[in-house]
Amino acid sequence: MWRTFFIFTQIIVMEYQSIQESFLNIFNTNPEVIIQSPGRINLLGEHTDYNDGMVLPAAIDKSIVVALGKSDNQSNWVSYNYNETYTTDIQTFEKNSHHWTSYIKGVVNELLSLGKKIPNFNMVFGGDIPLGAGLSSSAALETGIIAGLNELFYLQLSKLDIIQIAKKAENNFVGVNCGIMDMFANVKSMKDHVLLLDCKTLEFSYFKFDNSKYSIILCNSGVSHQLVDSQYNLRRKSCMDGVAILNSQKPTINSLRDATMEDLLNYKNLFDPITFNRCLYVIEESIRMNLALESLQNNDYQSFGKIMYQTHLGLKNDYEVSCEELDFLVEKAMSFPNTMGSRMMGGGFGGCSINLIEAGYEAAFMQFIDTAYFSNYGKKMEIYPVKITNGLERIA
Ligand code: ADP
Ligand code: MG
Repeated sequence: MWRTFFIFTQIIVMEYQSIQESFLNIFNTNPEVIIQSPGRINLLGEHTDYNDGMVLPAAIDKSIVVALGKSDNQSNWVSYNYNETYTTDIQTFEKNSHHWTSYIKGVVNELLSLGKKIPNFNMVFGGDIPLGAGLSSSAALETGIIAGLNELFYLQLSKLDIIQIAKKAENNFVGVNCGIMDMFANVKSMKDHVLLLDCKTLEFSYFKFDNSKYSIILCNSGVSHQLVDSQYNLRRKSCMDGVAILNSQKPTINSLRDATMEDLLNYKNLFDPITFNRCLYVIEESIRMNLALESLQNNDYQSFGKIMYQTHLGLKNDYEVSCEELDFLVEKAMSFPNTMGSRMMGGGFGGCSINLIEAGYEAAFMQFIDTAYFSNYGKKMEIYPVKITNGLERIA
């Protein structure tokens, strides 16, 4: 059953107090649990997760706040950003997916199938992560709700459980074949660090990121990733085709992670040019990751930035997942004197570019890129300066 609340006006920046107050206004009682769940960026390691490779994400200071409380005979879920309420009964809720409710039903469904008892609950959630911009608002919402239910109903879930349940919800219910990086970053991140995640073993470690000397600024191309699902599946298939070729020659290669550049070049004649280029990108990205980690350890952000730019060129030319607007943003950013590095971020065909800018030049950069985008495309672009924060936290 759908009902719309008009008690809210336009929402731009969300404070957790607003969500708490909304909960109080709507349900006449305070929420019992409030969780803050951040969005994430990925510094390096694009399209490597499904090749068993490494990624380097971090949570950011844009988040979703989820406020929850127990309820007797029905569940009322309120999306603050959409000004909409969905009412249902957990015992009988319909398994259809609709809009934002899929993310909630998806996690409830996974919890129920794990044998967890989930009674009805009321919830208000909302935040300032731009939706569909590649900053993982969906993962933030899923992990935020699971963490909230974990606290509310003493489900005894570990952080890793929360990550894995969120991934399953998105894969099985929402129907997006995403990897585990988004959820992992949004639960396990640490302030002022980037998180190195091995997508095969799920081993992870932290690398210091000097937020005081270098700033991260995201430019939203404004293009929505329409092609992303079909093209994403095609890229995954090319990688699997490449692995099959390499494996037929060298059985120890079971994913592109296991292949070296030498392997690829040795068997180049067995590849068609497109499959070769896709595999080339992935293997180069894994080499770049090692170099980038070395640069971070040496505080060498100049080299780190150059590697980001090389990643962009690989994504544009060999993996072919960029688009004109992203290329424009990256080329313009690279022409700004205090840009250390720039690249498209995420699956591709839209979303944001990520830019590493020398501290002190943030405003000048934003002015520069905004003007360039406006004069080329005739419309304003959204720009987000972001800081690296801790992962998901219970804040009340
Ligand atoms: P991304 O994860 O890159 O932001 P997705 O398309 O995976 O993009 O997820 C965006 C969807 O997640 C939205 O369209 C909406 O259904 C849901 N969602 C995320 N955050 C919120 C929110 N604050 N309020 C309502 N729905 C949300
Ligand atoms: Mg998402």
